[in-house]
Amino acid sequence: MWTVASYVVKQKLARRKRYPLVLMLEPLFRCNLACAGCGKIQYPAHILKKELTPEQCFRAVDECGAPMVSIPGGEPLMHPQIDVIVEGLVARQKYIYLCTTALLLKEKLDLFKPSKYLTFSVHVDGEREHHDFSVCREGGYDQAIEGMKEALRRGFRVTTNTTLFDGADPNSVREHFDQMMELGVEGMMLSPGYSYDKAPDQKHFLGRARTRKLFRAILSNRKKSWQFNQSPLFLEFLMGERQYACTPWGMPTYNIFGWQKPCYLLQDGYADTFQDLMDSTAWHEYGTESGNPKCANCMVHSGYEASAVNETFSSLRGLLATAKATIFTRHKDEHAMKLLNEHVRPVHSYNPLVQIEESSSQLEETSA
Ligand code: SF4
Repeated sequence: MWTVASYVVKQKLARRKRYPLVLMLEPLFRCNLACAGCGKIQYPAHILKKELTPEQCFRAVDECGAPMVSIPGGEPLMHPQIDVIVEGLVARQKYIYLCTTALLLKEKLDLFKPSKYLTFSVHVDGEREHHDFSVCREGGYDQAIEGMKEALRRGFRVTTNTTLFDGADPNSVREHFDQMMELGVEGMMLSPGYSYDKAPDQKHFLGRARTRKLFRAILSNRKKSWQFNQSPLFLEFLMGERQYACTPWGMPTYNIFGWQKPCYLLQDGYADTFQDLMDSTAWHEYGTESGNPKCANCMVHSGYEASAVNETFSSLRGLLATAKATIFTRHKDEHAMKLLNEHVRPVHSYNPLVQIEESSSQLEETSA
């Protein structure tokens, strides 16, 4: 928090209008899951086989200068040099969130050393049945939990990331929070899913009003034991208590195609350098207020969490609001309590779990 705070204050003092907070570094698109709501892995085999070299990763990190690096994908643990990439980023004192399905975590842990700079951010979408449905893999939950337990036992930092879609049961999500905290994770991260037009399941993306209702039910009347490693103001945004404009440059994305315009979710072209991305992107054409239909329902952290962090450091009011949201986390709300009594038919109760198999090329790479 201190690193982020001092970095943002420096940007403000330098009067930098647009600055990156987290670099989204995608070293490959291959994955060992094929989740129904994912729009990242539908590339042809020759693209799925490609990956960034460690040198390309370091160049991107140095160019961008953000204090945090999130490594999604794809599954970063399938990258043959992920240990070299992580080591290089730790040497640069970057805070790394290695986003993983954790299916390979147990067997790959020997590649890494525990460090305050390295966190395994494990994709867990909810309780066992919900998670397995969401990631289209029976047994995926148990494997992830096993990997997390081993990582925690060996002294690694472990957090979770949970993406929620329409049909999520708020009571079950709250139960999931209890289970994760009991397991010993350091914090949890939440986001509504983005309506990728390439995702196999197009029925369960949330509109803005439904997102707010769902997150209000989940995050009001909060338990003290729940820890979130996210801006408290962003959580209030998800609950409908705050309005933000998108700041897509806050979490710029670099992958095998270059610097992706304008954000982690959309692909409206690529730039060769970070500076070129900042200079040549028509930023005004994005965000919910822009009227761009691709942005209409988006409330995803990669667009809006940086807006929340920016508010914190933009005025005394923002700072006080953040302090208040950090200290008073309960968010007592009678109406939200009633929402928890509404009957929800969990999406997995009336849809069969479709186990999507990995392509043979992905399997070959996994075993390589
Ligand atoms: S609103 Fe969402 S999709 Fe649109 S630019 Fe922002 S993050 Fe990207």
